[in-house]
Amino acid sequence: MTVTLSKSLKTIESYKTTSPHYAELLDIMADILISREEYRKNMKDSVFHVEEKLIMQKMEGGLPLVDISSKQYDLSRPRKYFKSLINIAEKRMPDAGKKIMDFIESSEFDWEEMIKASFGRRDDEAQNIFREEQTDSSRSDEKQHSFDLIDLFAEESLRPELEVIAEKYGAVVEKAGWSEGYCPICGKEPKIGEIRESEEGRRYLFCHQCGFKWNYRRIKCPFCGNDEQHSLAYFTVEGEESQRVDVCNKCRRYIKIIELPKSIEELNLDVEDIATLHLDMIAYDEGYD
Ligand SMILES: [Zn+2]
Ligand SMILES: [Zn+2]
Repeated sequence: MTVTLSKSLKTIESYKTTSPHYAELLDIMADILISREEYRKNMKDSVFHVEEKLIMQKMEGGLPLVDISSKQYDLSRPRKYFKSLINIAEKRMPDAGKKIMDFIESSEFDWEEMIKASFGRRDDEAQNIFREEQTDSSRSDEKQHSFDLIDLFAEESLRPELEVIAEKYGAVVEKAGWSEGYCPICGKEPKIGEIRESEEGRRYLFCHQCGFKWNYRRIKCPFCGNDEQHSLAYFTVEGEESQRVDVCNKCRRYIKIIELPKSIEELNLDVEDIATLHLDMIAYDEGYD
């Protein structure tokens, strides 16, 4: 079950009132959601495919259904979508948009390499090189901002294609009892999740890359598997107790968690992620990554 576009756009409008400093980013998210719906309407089949007879084997072995980093796919459609997303940035944030355009037109930029690197584990060399490049060339806040937008657009460029896979195989994956901290559909690590009061406080992790949510033990770090209660903690900001940050003091990583009351059926976690960016900043300041 997903949140309808009109409901998500309404939520965005209300967050723009309560958090005006996120207005530009929220507007960009609104444009993204509209473009995504348009993309989905115009596509027939996903460029990704799943070998159905291997699903159970993959799930048991902790392997995601789609292997983007090492398999060859025709990514011309997502690449075109990426370009159209940059146009959104140029319209909404001309300065940041121009910087992104300059960067992606420069010779050092390789879209496919960036996409593949984003699927690597943290200790992957390619991923690290990309991360270093980012920190090196993004000293000023403004620059950092434009690079965060690139990440957002890079992820979005594959989202509609992967969303179709998540919707098609989600039920099968749920039955398989996936217990890893990364996404069973595409392999990406989660940044946000939710705790459902309607399900006795079960925790679900959300994948921005494909839109899939999967149940994950509450007292366990999704990134290193640590389940020792004394080294796991969480913090909230006063007055916003329904949004929290679960942290692991063993690997020093964190994930944002939204508490979903019984009265609310579903939230758009793409939108919640932007509305809670201040929690990311606090987490960074506290030394979590
Ligand atoms: Zn995913
Ligand atoms: Zn950990």
